[in-house]
Amino acid sequence: MPPATPFRHFLVVSDFDQTLSFNDSGQVLSELIGAGSFQQKVDGLERTNLVQQGAELAYLIRHDPEFRGVRREHLEETGRRVRLRSNIPALIDLMSRGLDGCGFSFFVISAAPREVIQSALEGIVSAEHIFGTEFDYDQDSGEVRSILRVPAGYGKVAVVEELEARLGVTPDRTIYIGDGSSDVHVMLHVNNRDGFTIAVSENTQLARIAKRTVLSDDAFAVMVPIFEQVLGWKSSDIRSVFESNGLTLQLWEKARTDRVTVGQAPSSSDLEPAVTGQADSTPERTAIGG
Ligand SMILES: [Mg+2]
Repeated sequence: MPPATPFRHFLVVSDFDQTLSFNDSGQVLSELIGAGSFQQKVDGLERTNLVQQGAELAYLIRHDPEFRGVRREHLEETGRRVRLRSNIPALIDLMSRGLDGCGFSFFVISAAPREVIQSALEGIVSAEHIFGTEFDYDQDSGEVRSILRVPAGYGKVAVVEELEARLGVTPDRTIYIGDGSSDVHVMLHVNNRDGFTIAVSENTQLARIAKRTVLSDDAFAVMVPIFEQVLGWKSSDIRSVFESNGLTLQLWEKARTDRVTVGQAPSSSDLEPAVTGQADSTPERTAIGG
């Protein structure tokens, strides 16, 4: 029987670190090789804006003396040690089967080293569906000789566009899932072209941008806003598809969180004269921060 509506093909793209996993692969690798103060190093790089957010580990592996000893096998071992969110196999299984009238192509795009992601998701997501940082290794020493590509920041946008073109998916059928500041660029890009974006953390920067935020330890939870907002399903249909995948929706609190900080308004004598002839592109922020 033909589907009632024309077949819809969605490109679903997920970040890796703290979106499909709980811990950051850079932190896990640092512990594995005994390198100290990973977070401090990342914070330092962030302050300089030298590398795109998310690309810090790639930079450290190439340039930090403590990471010089990193070899391919360390990255693979890191992947085995990363703790994944639950039910990723159920999510991938649903994506590959598709639903009535809908098909999904699922890809991981992350600045984490490709070897880490492939090893963490081995047997769950095929290697061709994983885009991570690619290194070139020295054949004799096994040392990382150069960085070939880092899908961080704008680098993620480039991969999304490549995939849309390759799969023939229109940008309004692209769905992006991420947790942190390295996902800001790609989420703005996907939203601008009428795609759908889901944040899986309480990162305030991202929560303003993402169309929906879902907080759960379970990777399958991202299907809730996809069913509801992208496919327009009713709650009862959503619950039954969870059940048909051997899962139950135990707790579903629907809330829109408004974060409000109240400050003292400046007195009229403190106010700068209004600037004329300049378009105000951020009316919301101006209203709150005044
Ligand atoms: Mg992340």
